[in-house]
Amino acid sequence: MVQVNDNYQKLPGSYLFSTIAKKVAAFAEANPDKEVIRLGIGDVTQPLVPAVVAAMHRAVDEMADAATFHGYAPDLGYEFLRSVIAKQDYQDRGCDIQKDEIFVSDGAKSDSGNIQEIFSNDLKIAVTDPVYPVYVDSNVMAGRCGEYNAKEQTWSNVIYMPCTRENGFVPELPKETPGIIYLCFPNNPTGTTITKAQLQEWVDYANWTGAVIIYDAAYEAYITEPDVAHSIYECAGADTCAIEIRSFSKNAGFTGVRLGFTVVPKALVRGGVSLHAMWARRHGTKYNGAPYIIQRAGEAVYSKEGRAQLKEQVAFYMKNAAVIKEGLSAAGYEVYGGVNAPYIWLKTPGNMSSWEFFDDLLARANVVGTPGSGFGPSGEGYFRLTAFGSYENTKAALARIQAL
Ligand code: PLP
Repeated sequence: MVQVNDNYQKLPGSYLFSTIAKKVAAFAEANPDKEVIRLGIGDVTQPLVPAVVAAMHRAVDEMADAATFHGYAPDLGYEFLRSVIAKQDYQDRGCDIQKDEIFVSDGAKSDSGNIQEIFSNDLKIAVTDPVYPVYVDSNVMAGRCGEYNAKEQTWSNVIYMPCTRENGFVPELPKETPGIIYLCFPNNPTGTTITKAQLQEWVDYANWTGAVIIYDAAYEAYITEPDVAHSIYECAGADTCAIEIRSFSKNAGFTGVRLGFTVVPKALVRGGVSLHAMWARRHGTKYNGAPYIIQRAGEAVYSKEGRAQLKEQVAFYMKNAAVIKEGLSAAGYEVYGGVNAPYIWLKTPGNMSSWEFFDDLLARANVVGTPGSGFGPSGEGYFRLTAFGSYENTKAALARIQAL
């Protein structure tokens, strides 16, 4: 008999978005006259910008000609993309990151799920709570998280760092030293972030303890405040303790195009072993490169026109974020996030549970959001709305909520 990986059996079902879909479908069937507005999705809605579309068209034409055709891409990504990333995302911000420390991939979900492979199964991970679920689930699959407690929604071998209004959504340094620390700022789902000075404390802690920080900066493009770091490498000493993961999904609308990258500095060494060399080995063995056409699209994101067009696109979503944030505040809600991220995290009124609020909002305002409890136990009593809808729908949804 073949034995399966039992760790997969430990994973609780991912009920959050399927439960939401079922509830919304049932409501729509029972109320065909009501127009439901969805502010729950974490997916972008604006089309690719012209500079990106033009670059893709050019690349398709190149692929159609034997003289300019491209086959397998280099393992780490094309030099034209890695060099522009190294310059604009890092060197221009004063970070000493070189192009050969950048590994191009098909997105931040795969990289944040795969990166744990280069670490021992004996170590413990630390995550913020609430959290983007991929970090924990990928470690469960690897057998690193112990047993699941369904009542508490926690794993026995995971260090949880609550982020709530009580601590200003700033995680405290854990009492027990973890091997890997997952941090994501600006944060999904809370839409909050920490200052560069606060991030420096994490870098110092990791260098002191020997832990490695996996820093997910998927929402970097939404930062508006000057004291927030766009990259963890803006902090002194981060190159000896941090891996950074980036995505083209939210800054350039590539959720359906697929492109991202991971930075593993050469100075990052644990137990005498270079993590850069390990990730290069892993990437070369299990990944055959992001498509040429898509990497050319990625390059266009850094062009003068691309940057200007995407600045407008991000501003479009952030205008929605402001509509939600200000509208909710005016209606008396306690609201967080939405300043450096396209997510708004609200405290449910009257001690309602996250799901009670979901049902109430759907029934009375016909607006769909995401229950905070779906992201971890500390998300209970909170609710996430996203700025990725249309401006008209966002305004209409807020008018309905204010009229409740
Ligand atoms: N990381 C975080 C924190 C996210 O919220 C998401 C998507 O919602 C991702 C990564 C996934 O990014 P990608 O589309 O590049 O896989």
